Amino acid sequence: MVKNIYLDNAATTPVKKEVLEEMIPYFTERYGNPSSIYKIGRESKIALDGAREKVANAIGAASKEIYFTSGGSEADNWAIKGVAFANKEKGNHIITTKIEHHGILHTCQYLEKHGFEVTYLDVDKYGIIDLEQLENSIKENTILISVMFANNEIGSIQPIKEIGQLAKKNNVYFHTDAIQAVGKLKIDVNDLNVDMLSMSAHKLYGPKGIGALYIKKGVKIHSHIHGGVQEKNRRAGTENIPSIIGFGKAVELAYENIDENNQRLIKLRDRLINEIKSKISHVILNGHPEKRLPNNVSVCFEFIEGEALLLSLDMVGIAGSSGSACTSGSLDPSHVLLSIGLIHEIAHGSLRLSLGDFNTEEEVDYVVEQLVIIVDRLRRMSPLYEKVKGEA
Ligand SMILES: *Cc1c(COP(=O)(O)O)cnc(C)c1O
Repeated sequence: MVKNIYLDNAATTPVKKEVLEEMIPYFTERYGNPSSIYKIGRESKIALDGAREKVANAIGAASKEIYFTSGGSEADNWAIKGVAFANKEKGNHIITTKIEHHGILHTCQYLEKHGFEVTYLDVDKYGIIDLEQLENSIKENTILISVMFANNEIGSIQPIKEIGQLAKKNNVYFHTDAIQAVGKLKIDVNDLNVDMLSMSAHKLYGPKGIGALYIKKGVKIHSHIHGGVQEKNRRAGTENIPSIIGFGKAVELAYENIDENNQRLIKLRDRLINEIKSKISHVILNGHPEKRLPNNVSVCFEFIEGEALLLSLDMVGIAGSSGSACTSGSLDPSHVLLSIGLIHEIAHGSLRLSLGDFNTEEEVDYVVEQLVIIVDRLRRMSPLYEKVKGEA
C-alpha cells in the first residue's frame, strides 16, 4: 500500500474538521455583510467580533489591536511598509535579520529602493541573533526592528523578550513575524514588549489566505488598503468572514491543549532526530538543539543532493521539504542555511521535516527506515562519499 505521510506542516497544514464545520454556515446561510444593519449582517458582525477576540486572546492582546489580513505575507508587508512610511520624518533605518522569511526580506529590499536603509543582522551557528550586535546597530534614525519569532526552516527561537526590551529602551518599534510560533509557543505581546506581530491561519490548521497583524494601541502606522472603513479604517474590503471564523476556531483549538500537544510533538521530534543521527552517518542538525520549535526537524546529509532526496521520499509516500516552500524550485541553497555558516555543498543536502498534530510514532519510524535506505543509495552514487569512506 502506498503511504501518505505528511511531514511538511511548516509549509501548510490541513484544516481541522472542527474548524471547517464552524466555517461552512458562513458561506451559505450566514452570508450577511458585517457592515449591514439588518439581522444577518449584525449576526456576521457578532461572529467577526468573536473570532477577533479568540485571536487576540491567543497572544494576550486586546481585540481592537487585531487586524485581519489575507495571510502572513500581507501582515509582514503591512507592518514593515506601514511603519516605514508613517515614521520617515523620524528616521529611515530598519533593522532585521538575514534569516527572515521572504515576506520580510523582499519587503525590506523594496524599501531600500525607496530611500530606506536596512541592517541585516547576522545569526550564530544555531540561527540565533546576537543581542549586542542588535544594540550596536540601533542608531538615532532607527525606526523599526523586525525579528522573526521562530524560523520556518531550522526552527530556532529568538530571544524575543530581550529584543522587546532593547526596542522599548531605545524608543524603536518592534515587529515580529510569529507565523511559525503562534499555536505552538505561548505568547504574551505585552510581556514581550512586541508592538506588531504577524500571524497566519494555514500554519495552525486553519484555512489558507487569512491572517492577522497585531498592532499595539498607539503605534504610528499607515493604513494598508484604502477604501471602506473595515478594520478600523486601516484595511478596507469586505471581511472574509468564513476564513476569519476558521482562523478563530483554529487558534482557539491550538491553545486549548498546547502543553499536552507540545509534549507529544517534542517526543516525536526528538525520536526523529535521534534515530536519524544514530542510524545515518555524516548528518548535521540545523538550528538550536533546545531553543527550537516543537515540530521542527532540519538536517543536512553530507554528499547528498536535497532535491534527489525529496523525490525519493515522495516515491515512498513521504512529503518533506528542502527548506522553505517558497524557495524550492530554485537551485540556490537557502539563505537561512548559508547564514548559519553552512557551505553550499552541505546546504544542498538539507531536509526539513515538520511534524503536525496528525503524525504518529509509526510514521516517524517508517520515515527513518526509508531515509536509511535512500541516503545510502544516493551516497553510493557520490564519488566524493566513496572517497571519504575509503579513507576512514
Ligand atoms: C508561511 C510563512 C509566511 C507567509 O505566510 P502566508 O500566510 O503563507 O502568506 C511568512 N513568514 C513565515 C515565517 C512563514 O512560515
